[in-house]
Parts: sequence; C-alpha cells; structure tokens
Amino acid sequence: MPLIAARLNKISPSQTIAISTKARALKAAGRDIISLSAGEPDFDTPQNVKQAAMRAIANGQTKYTDVSGTPALKQAIAERFRIDSGLDYRPEEIIVCTGGKQVIYNAMVATLDAGDEVIIPSPCWVSYPDIVALADGAPVIVPCGPNSGFKLRAEDLEAAITPRTKWFFLNSPNNPTGAAYDRDELRAICDVLLRHPDIWIFTDDIYDKLVYDGFQPATIVQVEPRLRDRTVTMNGCSKAYAMTGWRIGFAGAPALLIRAMDKLQSQSTSNASSISQAAALEALTGPQDFIAEMVATYQARRDLVVDMLGEADGITCHKPEGAFYVYPSMQGCIGKTSAGGAAITDDESFVVALLEEQGVAAVHGAAFVFPGHFRVSYATDTESLAEACRRIQRFCADLH
Ligand code: PLP
Repeated sequence: MPLIAARLNKISPSQTIAISTKARALKAAGRDIISLSAGEPDFDTPQNVKQAAMRAIANGQTKYTDVSGTPALKQAIAERFRIDSGLDYRPEEIIVCTGGKQVIYNAMVATLDAGDEVIIPSPCWVSYPDIVALADGAPVIVPCGPNSGFKLRAEDLEAAITPRTKWFFLNSPNNPTGAAYDRDELRAICDVLLRHPDIWIFTDDIYDKLVYDGFQPATIVQVEPRLRDRTVTMNGCSKAYAMTGWRIGFAGAPALLIRAMDKLQSQSTSNASSISQAAALEALTGPQDFIAEMVATYQARRDLVVDMLGEADGITCHKPEGAFYVYPSMQGCIGKTSAGGAAITDDESFVVALLEEQGVAAVHGAAFVFPGHFRVSYATDTESLAEACRRIQRFCADLH
C-alpha cells in the first residue's frame, strides 16, 4: 500500500519554489543575485501593528479564540468592508482564516464535490488550480491575453459555463499581471453571472488597495448587490499592511457558507493566531496613511520597470493598474541563444538562463498557466530593481 494518498498526486509543488531554490543556491555560492520572484511587500509591518501584537502577548491574549475570529476583529473587518467598498456584512457573515489562502481552501473543500467545475481566468495565482484539484474539483482555465489587458471578456466567461460550473474565480488586481477591473468591466461580468443563478463567485481582492494613477478599485457585490447571496468577498492583511508572515485573511459571505467554512476550520486549524488577530485589529482600525505612502513608492517602481523592460529587445511590457507585478511577454526572444549558450525555447528556459547568466530571478509564465511571459515583482528596493532591469536589458541585447 503506497504511503502517499492518490489525492496528493493531483497537485504539484509550487513552481515558484524551484526558481527561488535555485536563486538561493547561487546566492549561497557567492553570486550577486537580485530576486524579483517574491510575492510579498519589501516594506516592514508598521510599528503600531507590531506594538499591538506585543501588547496582546503582555495582556495574555494568548489563548484560543472563536474559530472564525474574535468579535472585535470581525467588527473591524465589517467596518473596513463598509468604508472601503460600501459592503454590508454582519459578524455571522465574516470568517477570519490563517491567510487568504485558507479562505480559498476552506471555501473549496466545504463546497466542491467530485467533478464540480471552477472557472479560473488565467494568468492566475499558482494556488487556485491546485486548491480546486485537492478539493476534487475540476479547474476550467480561461486564458485572458494581453489584447484584453489580461482581463476576462464577458463572452469568454459565458462560453466557459457548463451545467457543472459551481464557482467562478475573479482576482482583481491580479497576480501575476497586475490587471484590475473597473466598474464597467465588472458590470459586463456581473451581467453574465446574473443569467446563471447557480454559479457561486469567489472574488479575491487581496491587492485592492495597491492601485495606481487614481484607479478606483471595485468588487463584484458593490457593482451588483443582487450577487451578494452567492459571492465570497475575500481580502486580508498580507499585502496592503505588509503582514505576509502574520497569516491573516478574511472573507464576507452568506452565513450558510461561513458556517460550513467555520465547521471545517474547527476540525483543522481552529482560530488564526490570537496575537496576529490582535495585530490585524490594529492594522484595520489604526492609521491608514501608511498605505498611500507604500502605493506612491510602488507606482514609481512600476513606471520604472515598465519603461526599462519596454526598452529590452524581444520584450513587450504591458502597464498594469495594480498589485506589485508586471507580466512582460518574452515571445520575441524564443528561438534565440543566450550569450552563455542556452537555447531560449520557452519562458522557463528564459528565466533559468537569466538567473544563471545575469543573476536575476523572475518567475516563468507557465507557473501562472499562461506561458510566453514572465512575472517580475517590483516589491524590491528601487536601486536593486533598476539594476535588475539593466541586467535584463543586457541579457536580451546579447541574445542571438
Ligand atoms: N490571493 C492572491 C492572488 C495572492 O497573490 C496571494 C498571495 O500571494 C494570496 C491570495 C494569499 O495570501 P495570504 O498570504 O494571505 O495567504
């Protein structure tokens, strides 16, 4: 009898790990490596948030809490939903999880039966298809290319829907492209969903505070309140509050689903860390000006990267509305050979050669189910970022 369950064969280890492992090995061997592969802010967690956590420890907030989160934090989440998006969620319609990732995991495991289909626009975050597969669901990938700004078109959503469609995922701003949907674009998507009353909607808004050039973020329930009773609105502290390690994600959703997710969580991880919940409470209720400062820095870096990569031979770089990623095409480099003699046959050979020859780590597009591109994270100090872009330009100029 094999030790490892068949279920585990449905998923693969995170493809982003392979490139980071290689980058770390090269660094350990003394090479000068700049990593643009991280999916987390380079900013430190704000001081007031850290202090709230230290106070929580000193005050003995070190015990189990309600599985779905402390009443105070749920109240604060409800308030943020109201202030930020005009959404009205009651405490019994809110759950706090160990990161946004656990929100997705809970929702899928609590609802999917074998063969249920989940529509996922691609490029998509690496974990969506794997979480769906682990929960016995069938990911239905709908490619969204640069011609539509990497956004799903209403007609492509309509065409992907079958009688087995249970969920539709939307991530705006998107990882890995940074693409964000405005109200009109969401309106078109909502109109399709209104015609299919059995489909549930999972909207991952974890990057919604990181938007540039005055872009107004919006979310499904805000645009179409009639979809409220079948939508999960997910958000979290990881990106906007630079709190990836604290592991706090949350969602607003109909109480029926929240109860099912709570039941599942009660038999798996129980509550998210009590100390992290106290920190999250301060993040959500304390001063918010930190975010605007961070956004200004990200915007300047985005412009730098888009300009510099746009000058690299064989690269086309789209300018995204949000998050901290750009997703350039490298298709103009395919079929060439690098200065170090590597054949560039696809996005993976491109990022491997770039890392080995120029010491720049980026993630290949196949990891996000949309090859021919690579993801650059600009959550890195501006000086390193400029140097990394110069190295990418050099790498591309040397291709023959
Ligand atoms: N959703 C998207 C699109 C992400 O990029 C990430 C993290 O990279 C998450 C969710 C999960 O975030 P958390 O760290 O809160 O689990």
